[in-house]
Amino acid sequence: MPLSIAIDGPVGAGKSTISDAVARKLNMIHLDTGAMYRAVGLCAMDNGIDIRDEEKVTQMCREGKALVDVLYADGTQITLLNGEDVNGRIRTQEAGEAASAVSRYRYVREMLVRRQQEIARKQDILIDGRDICTVVLPDATVKIYLTATAEERARRRQLQLAEKGQQIPFEEILAEVNARDWQDMHREVDPLRIAPGAVVVDTSDLDFDGSVQAVLRCVEEAGRS
Ligand code: C5P
Repeated sequence: MPLSIAIDGPVGAGKSTISDAVARKLNMIHLDTGAMYRAVGLCAMDNGIDIRDEEKVTQMCREGKALVDVLYADGTQITLLNGEDVNGRIRTQEAGEAASAVSRYRYVREMLVRRQQEIARKQDILIDGRDICTVVLPDATVKIYLTATAEERARRRQLQLAEKGQQIPFEEILAEVNARDWQDMHREVDPLRIAPGAVVVDTSDLDFDGSVQAVLRCVEEAGRS
């Protein structure tokens, strides 16, 4: 069976960047599943479909109008929507909100989980998301729940936005982080939670390199046991 490292965690824990660095160090591919939900959200927006309308979004998927796949170029994931590279278009605030909305729908989750499992069956993989240890790969070689306090995640987000020239009050960002957490943890289908057997890695007091090292240690330890 291929080696699989499964990482879940709340928004802003640094999952994507930390996962990317760990995967590169271990020379394996990194599947960012959030990008796949973003692509479905984007597809709904492109087609003028109300993202709050589960029936319409489901119909779009059933009719094969939201074909999501990934490929890799120099180790970087390229997310494809109906064959189009949407890496740039999925990274907007709007696409994130659309992803959050469509990720609540059973049909969307089943469709993407199936594809994620197919990809993971073929090769060594590091895969990150919200339901990887609980649903996608419950038998993963290594299972990690990567987190940090809501305040620390909001602080990091505020810094990121400031670097882009956007000054947003801390309280506003914290409220957003808390709202996203609530949504991810309380949705009916596959809510975010710590899977049995997952190691919790709290990065609140770690910098980026420290967080990468902490994840690498979990992988090493799993290899020894
Ligand atoms: O991680 P990212 O912010 O790109 O994810 C976008 C949205 O997709 C999240 O807010 C979450 O609701 C959803 N998601 C999910 N399951 C995953 C990955 C992401 O529900 N495995």
